[in-house]
Amino acid sequence: MSIHHTRITGSDYAAMADLVKKYKVTVARHTVEKVRDGYRVDAHASDAQIQALEAAGYTVEHLEDAEAEGKARQREMRDNAGAALSVATATGYLDVSHVEAALATEAAAPNDRFTTLIRLPNETWEQRACHALKIGNGSGPGRTGIYLLGGVHAREWGSPDILINFIQQLTNAYRANTDITIGNRTFTAAQIKSIVDTKDIYVFPQANPDGRHYSMTTEPMWRKNRRPAPAGHTQSQCVGVDVNRNYDFLWNFPKYFDANSPVQNSTDPCDHDVYIGPAAASEPETKNVVWMFDTFPHIRYFVDLHSYSEDILYNWGDDNDQSTDPQMNFQNPAYDGKRGIADDKAYREYIAAEDKKLAVGLANEMRDAIKASRGRVYKTEQSMSLYPTAGTSDDYAFSRHITDAKRAKVFSYTIEWGSPKNPTPFHPPYPEMKQIIDEITSGLLAFCISAN
Ligand SMILES: [Zn+2]
Repeated sequence: MSIHHTRITGSDYAAMADLVKKYKVTVARHTVEKVRDGYRVDAHASDAQIQALEAAGYTVEHLEDAEAEGKARQREMRDNAGAALSVATATGYLDVSHVEAALATEAAAPNDRFTTLIRLPNETWEQRACHALKIGNGSGPGRTGIYLLGGVHAREWGSPDILINFIQQLTNAYRANTDITIGNRTFTAAQIKSIVDTKDIYVFPQANPDGRHYSMTTEPMWRKNRRPAPAGHTQSQCVGVDVNRNYDFLWNFPKYFDANSPVQNSTDPCDHDVYIGPAAASEPETKNVVWMFDTFPHIRYFVDLHSYSEDILYNWGDDNDQSTDPQMNFQNPAYDGKRGIADDKAYREYIAAEDKKLAVGLANEMRDAIKASRGRVYKTEQSMSLYPTAGTSDDYAFSRHITDAKRAKVFSYTIEWGSPKNPTPFHPPYPEMKQIIDEITSGLLAFCISAN
């Protein structure tokens, strides 16, 4: 199956909802824009989907053959096999084993007592072990936990590289007691020291190594994990679950959402991109992400890295936010069947005004630090767009303290790095990816300074 990077224009809201509901196109949610003759969105679609869309009156701009161009990225990667583990000097993406080796090397650095390798308890479907790294010098109460996650979606190759670079920059500067300068922004040695001495930074860079390996070697546009296909389903796309639709937050979306909502989730195991899985948190990859929150209960800030669209997203993703009616919330069954229609009055998700203020403020800190790198201006916005979601990590993380008051409140973000204008935007050519690695590293350092 050939997949094309496209821009699709539809005449109205209903047409844009049909893109997801009827034609099963996976859109880059936050690229929807109002244009003269309707709405336009950046998307990836197959030949058959494009044919059906054009027959139905959509305008489909063809940008590139994502499969063929993705194969070019795979060849470039193989040319870089054996690359150094230092992202600062790398000329190509880290492969799955590089990422694990970089973590192990960091934790084994001599004379260090501030890095700890954490083995996640669940092996993946293909029996891969996953690791996270804790960075923090000291112990005791009062330390703020910050959790950075990447590599959930297989084809979004750059997120593990960003997080390994973040680790390497932070730990090198801490050891040498030096500043980090990225573009116009300098993080002083004192600020770096303060992060490591007073906070615990948990970095889990490669949550879905099976999917990443498959995307890097076989099908570049692969997104899900590699759960075996259900019995009787032989098509290759019936393998896998979308880990970022598998968390326990409104997971069973047909029960909770309006039947007309263009929620970007699917109950079909053969959906190429957004199958939610057989149960909430059914996947070993999801369980590992959750285990970190359960095991380190002082985690109060969370960032999940994805691509693309140059966005910093804060809660919620299931519907528009409101701060006036606490009873109108995701736990209230009175609103089942009403969620997930943009800009209506039937349902909006509750977030306290002071939480929203803090969430937006921190998002803006990251935006400013990203801009200082090379001038790219990321949008800070609520995760909900014309296309809502359920079962995502950021909403799950922020919902934990609401479903169980004993748990910490976790301010949660999704960063969608990279521009839709890049070739193969899920895995841009590495010279562009290097620029993105720098700008997001800058954003994450600012986040670690400001999150208290
Ligand atoms: Zn993603």
